[in-house]
Amino acid sequence: MLLNGKTGIVFGVANKRSLAWAIAQRAAENGARLALTYQGERLEENARELAAELVNPALICCDVTKDEDLEAAFVRVREEFGSLDFVVHGIAYALKEELEGEYMNTSRDGYRIAQEVSAYSLAAIAKHAAPLMEERGGSILTLTYLGGERVIPHYNVMGVAKAALDMSVRYLAWDLGEKGVRVNAISAGPLKTLASAGIKGFSKILGHMKEHAPLRRNTNQSEVADAALFLLSDLSRGVTGEILHVDCGYHIMGM
Ligand code: NAP
Repeated sequence: MLLNGKTGIVFGVANKRSLAWAIAQRAAENGARLALTYQGERLEENARELAAELVNPALICCDVTKDEDLEAAFVRVREEFGSLDFVVHGIAYALKEELEGEYMNTSRDGYRIAQEVSAYSLAAIAKHAAPLMEERGGSILTLTYLGGERVIPHYNVMGVAKAALDMSVRYLAWDLGEKGVRVNAISAGPLKTLASAGIKGFSKILGHMKEHAPLRRNTNQSEVADAALFLLSDLSRGVTGEILHVDCGYHIMGM
């Protein structure tokens, strides 16, 4: 019960395969009370079904590109919980046509959308979350991918957004460290989810990793959730600004 008595908000639960859902489940199993967000009406029923598996959750509609949604989400968190111990940011989006072909063909809009949803949203969320964490500190966790450090064909504009996200983790860790708020990321190995289904050649990426990762297999949701539990809990109280690779060791390889 590493999160007993703690409260958290989880962004990015689309369905049972979502990394954010795996983390939410692990956090709930460990005693946390959670608020889950969903992007809009289209996914409300799905979110409701998943939230029904949790004890006393708060369900909040929040499109992170809308300032008024973010504002309202954290007002609701304050009303429900009073304070906040952790945030899980499991959000990314790029136009499907940007995730194939050459990066130099990225459209202006495609670039803006990927950055706004996938990277800027972390800073916007941190700004709202920090005042609720001031009393006893807190932990903010995001999910990133190796495509922000190395070139992964077709990941394109999302890789550039992940590079911005990785640096955002470090700048936010500096901003909020004084208040006892830690900011970290998990760089997960490739996993089949709704978001990854949009990346051209994704099954090839899975096959390559399985063959070349030191552990000779793919990552799964459960091991990402276990690492998240460490980063959300007091076990990682001395860790901030860190990008923890949970990818069966693939990131150390030169091939
Ligand atoms: P997922 O289940 O599709 O989750 C992505 C989430 O982002 C969805 O809930 C999606 O909601 C949400 N989202 C997109 N635009 C949004 C907006 N404007 N406002 C609020 N929410 C929005 O896929 P996932 O793979 O678990 O992705 C979670 C995170 O893990 C992402 O940052 C991803 O890059 C990262 N990651 C994934 C992998 C992988 O291989 N799967 C590997 C490393 C890192 P909608 O469905 O409503 O759009």
